[in-house]
Formats: sequence, C-alpha cells, structure tokens
Amino acid sequence: MEVIDSVKELKKRVSDFRKENKKIGLVPTMGALHNGHASLVRKSTDENDVTIVSVFVNPTQFNDKNDLEKYPRTLDADCRLLESLGATLVFAPSVDEIYPEPDTRSFSYPPTDSVMEGAFRPGHFNGVCQIVSKLFMFVEPDNAYFGEKDFQQIAVIKAMVYDYRKKDTDWAKRLNIRPCPIVREDDGLALSSRNTLLTEEERSIAPYIYSVLSESVDYSRTHSVEETKNMVVEKINKKEGLKVQYYEIVNADTLQTVSSWDEAEHIQGCITVFCGDTPIRLIDNINYI
Ligand code: AMP
Repeated sequence: MEVIDSVKELKKRVSDFRKENKKIGLVPTMGALHNGHASLVRKSTDENDVTIVSVFVNPTQFNDKNDLEKYPRTLDADCRLLESLGATLVFAPSVDEIYPEPDTRSFSYPPTDSVMEGAFRPGHFNGVCQIVSKLFMFVEPDNAYFGEKDFQQIAVIKAMVYDYRKKDTDWAKRLNIRPCPIVREDDGLALSSRNTLLTEEERSIAPYIYSVLSESVDYSRTHSVEETKNMVVEKINKKEGLKVQYYEIVNADTLQTVSSWDEAEHIQGCITVFCGDTPIRLIDNINYI
C-alpha cells in the first residue's frame, strides 16, 4: 500500500491505473478510522480493482474552529488498518496541498442542503462539496463510497454529481455514488471518530439516542409523524447529559419534512444531539419506511 501526500503524484498513479484498465473505488475520510470506515473500504475492495482512501481533515467544512482543532488525528494507525483491509493507496495531503489558494467556489443545492445540518452548520456542505469535488476531479473514480451515518451528506453529494453531469463533466458521468449502511457498536451507538472524545460517563449515555430511535419505529406504527417526533425529542431531552439540537422526520430523497406516513415512499428520521458538558455533537438517523 502506498501513502502519498501530493496531488501531482496522485494524478500520476491514477493515470497509470487507468492505462491498466483498472476500476477505481474512492473512499473519502477525515481519518481517525474505525469499523464504519472499514466497511466502506471493504465494499470498495470487493467492487473495484483499486481502492484509494483519502485521509484529510477538511478545514472548509468546519464552521466551529474548536471542533476542527480537537478533531482526532491518527494517521499511522489509520494506515495500518487500511493496509490490513487491502487498500491500494492512501492520499493524505496537507491543507496547503489541497488549498494552495482559498477555494472561492460556492455550491448550493436547495432544498437538500439548506435544512438540518445545512441550517445548523452554515457553510458545512459548501466545504464538503469543495473537498469532495476536488477528490472526484483528481481521482475520477468509478465508484465512491459514503456512509448513511451522514444521511444528508449523501443527498447533497448526489445533487452535486447530478449538477456536474448536467454540465457534461466526464468524471461525473462515470461516477456511481455507493451508500453504505451505518455500522454501530454492540450497544447501538453509531460509530464516529468523535466518539473517542466522549468521557466514560458520556459514552455510557450516548447509546440511549439509538435506543429511543429504535423504539420510535414501533411507536410510529400507531402514532402520527408529529407524535413520533415529539416522543423522540421529549424522551432524549429527559435523559441527563443529552440535548436534542433537532429531530426531523423527512422524505428520504428530498430531505423535506413530512407530515404523514404516506407522504413519501421512504421516510427517515434524522437527529443531532449534544452529549455531555463539552458538549460532543452526535448525529444519527433511522429508517421508518
Ligand atoms: P468521516 O471521516 O467522518 O468524514 O467519514 C468518512 C465516511 O465514513 C463518510 O462517508 C461517513 O458517512 C462514513 N462513516 C462514518 N461513520 C460511519 C458509520 N458508523 N457507519 C458507516 N459509515 C460511516
């Protein structure tokens, strides 16, 4: 497995792979890798000849400087895990390598990117589109892998790729976005790099989020959307140490809120909860229909 930090070298390796007619899978990450990331890498190695994993904590998607500073960075351990998973190449660039000058491009895909994370983290999805579009341009992958843990992110990236496709961009025409299911701890907590920042006590209450979400699926069979939403918010807020930032029950394709269970073919509940005093911001989601 090769580890490279230069865009020029990355493009050279990609062009070699293409000459050899290799199918390329890309897994974008911010590192501090866990089993959730590993599931994306496994799917990519199953479906492609070559798997490229990027490890880059992208500053432009952080609207909170403190969050960016405390984000865990563990490149050596990440590389050991990726090697054991059979990744072909790790791209771990510096910030200057990715942004030799400020990226002034602006991306907007309303209404997908204006609700939920888009509303509570201004500029977040613009930063995500900046880095992911750069990675797509450098690698021109056949398949790119994203976790459903970041449910809204997948919808925004799909909207971005669709937009590039409409502009007849070659890399966008080739690319398939491959969503991957959420990987959880045995107690239900969705794996996240941020979980390492939880104290022992916070870690012990965090699984309550998924336990209430799971309970709400049964509850939804006999209650309205509004009642289900209220039940989730009230139960979680009653637990000491947890505070819901938002809980929205949405059409899984458009991410717009629904008011009844027959309003969309697929319906998802998306939540963000602050855990503990620091606090650590945890996201999760669940499928109703
Ligand atoms: P991150 O490093 O947090 O930017 O995540 C990189 C990719 O891994 C994103 O597509 C995430 O959605 C995905 N991911 C993170 N946690 C999980 C998880 N618990 N299960 C599945 N995918 C995940």
